[in-house]
Amino acid sequence: MNKIIDGKFYAQELNTRLKNSIEQINGKRKPKLTIIQIGDNFASNKYIKNKLNACEKVGIIGELKKYQENIKQSEIVREIEKLNKDLTVDGIIVQLPLPSHINEKEITDTISPLKDADGFTPINLGNVMLNKSNIYPATPYGIIKLLEWKKINLIGANIVIIGRSNIVGKPLANMLINKSATVTVCNTKTKDLKRICKNADVLISAAGAANLVTKDFVNDKMTIIDVGANFVDGKYCGDVKFDEVFEIVKYITPVPGGVGPMTISCLLENTFNLYSQKEN
Ligand code: NAD
Repeated sequence: MNKIIDGKFYAQELNTRLKNSIEQINGKRKPKLTIIQIGDNFASNKYIKNKLNACEKVGIIGELKKYQENIKQSEIVREIEKLNKDLTVDGIIVQLPLPSHINEKEITDTISPLKDADGFTPINLGNVMLNKSNIYPATPYGIIKLLEWKKINLIGANIVIIGRSNIVGKPLANMLINKSATVTVCNTKTKDLKRICKNADVLISAAGAANLVTKDFVNDKMTIIDVGANFVDGKYCGDVKFDEVFEIVKYITPVPGGVGPMTISCLLENTFNLYSQKEN
């Protein structure tokens, strides 16, 4: 049995399907995603390059609007308002993290829910909670797709999520609840984290803490989804001590090659869905 949940492979499958759908658009303009970057963060440069490459591969027009680190909040808000009105733009995302003088919430709230390719606006997040959305935050969406592809039972499953952020833990918990899972969401104040994790059918770590999940957190029927994207001594790694738990658990995502590529594919899918909503 192959224990690895190969996000790179599944993401390519998704991208191929999307490319086929986009190729079938006849005589109309192609979907367009605009990425806003403020400053020159090293990791952001890498993530944006990957997103733009992925856009090109599937036939989405990817556009980067890069602004100086010291740009004023009001100027960025104005730029987003212009993009909201631009009929050629289907999806808008703001690459995080933002410089400390920029108010992330105000920026996210300025993006029109109709162009919210990341699915971070209050309206889209609310609709996710109510189970009536077709735009989902890309990372949780990718995780659900991975679990479903691997045919991991979610109904009644005991699922533990480490991390309660607005972009991963909270929306993911809601999406899993909507699929009839029993969900526990942990944070840095959670008591006896190891014990809570150890009983899970599915353990999803989105803490951003390298080496957090050790063999003491796992069991032999468990599926592990490692969302963490950490750099330790220049090396990219997740939250899970992969080598230590690999032999014990049933399924596991690697880092890199697990959740990351799925996040990008789901971002593209959201962009296409927003385009289709507008055009049809
Ligand atoms: P965040 O910092 O906003 O939230 C982290 C959460 O984890 C918090 O709720 C915190 O309470 C909890 N946490 C941290 N350390 C913990 C510990 N030791 N024990 C229990 N709880 C702990 O982070 P985020 O934006 O949700 O991202 C989480 C991680 O996932 C980061 O490494 C990020 O880079 C990564 N990420 C990866 C992708 C991807 O596509 N691969 C996408 C989004 C985020």
